[in-house]
Amino acid sequence: MEDKITFIKDGIRLDGRRVDEARPIKVEVGVLARADGSCYLEMGNNKVIAAVYGPREVHPRHLQEVSRAIVRYRYNMASFSVEERRRPGPDRRSYELSKVSREALSPVILTSYFPRSVIDIFVEVLQADAGTRTAGINAASVALADAGIPMKSLISSCAAGKVDDQIVLDPMKEEDNFGQADMPIAMTPGGEITLLQMDGHMTVEESHRAMELAMKGCRDIYNMQRKVLIDRYSQMENATRQEEAVI
Ligand code: UDP
Repeated sequence: MEDKITFIKDGIRLDGRRVDEARPIKVEVGVLARADGSCYLEMGNNKVIAAVYGPREVHPRHLQEVSRAIVRYRYNMASFSVEERRRPGPDRRSYELSKVSREALSPVILTSYFPRSVIDIFVEVLQADAGTRTAGINAASVALADAGIPMKSLISSCAAGKVDDQIVLDPMKEEDNFGQADMPIAMTPGGEITLLQMDGHMTVEESHRAMELAMKGCRDIYNMQRKVLIDRYSQMENATRQEEAVI
């Protein structure tokens, strides 16, 4: 018989976090010269990069919509991003993650400003440790803003899970793979939920607690996303002012 993993001991998780603590986050904006907008983001041991192109002409043409831009999202895991080498190319999981991530971001993108065009979002997972869809959505949201795409707001994403009958924030791989449940969400700063998925089992009370905790995670991430964008654009503004002063 397999030994049961103890995930939480004296209130502390396997990686030293408390149950309501998310992993450290690092966000860098404007990392790719050839993309219209880009972002590199780490959530614990997850490392993802998002690149946004557009609005631009749609190919193939028959996909274009007369009254709005279409949004495409491609989630891709590098073959070296996981413990056991992943076969390159799309699979069922990456199609699902691309679809739900696109749906998580689409409600805030003002697509009606750009009829007959496309906004392409590419997310590459360089290192995975559970929560790659949430990390990808967070990076994509910042990359969209960096590309100057008009949006109602940013989108922030985080998961809550259940391990050892306790609700925990931002599960890492062991907790996700061997725990009892995993519930990723995405939301606007105003609290509108744009993604809600769940694997495993929770009681109604537990799902309320998980939602509360995941929303707290999203709010913290939002503050971080907002700060890096403000820092980046105030730096650019200062640089432009200095250039103008020289001229
Ligand atoms: N994973 C893996 N190989 C795969 C797919 C997933 O090792 O082919 C790992 C990876 O660390 C991933 C985690 O399992 O982050 C959880 O995957 P899930 O499908 O729940 O998506 P995620 O939590 O990354 O959004």
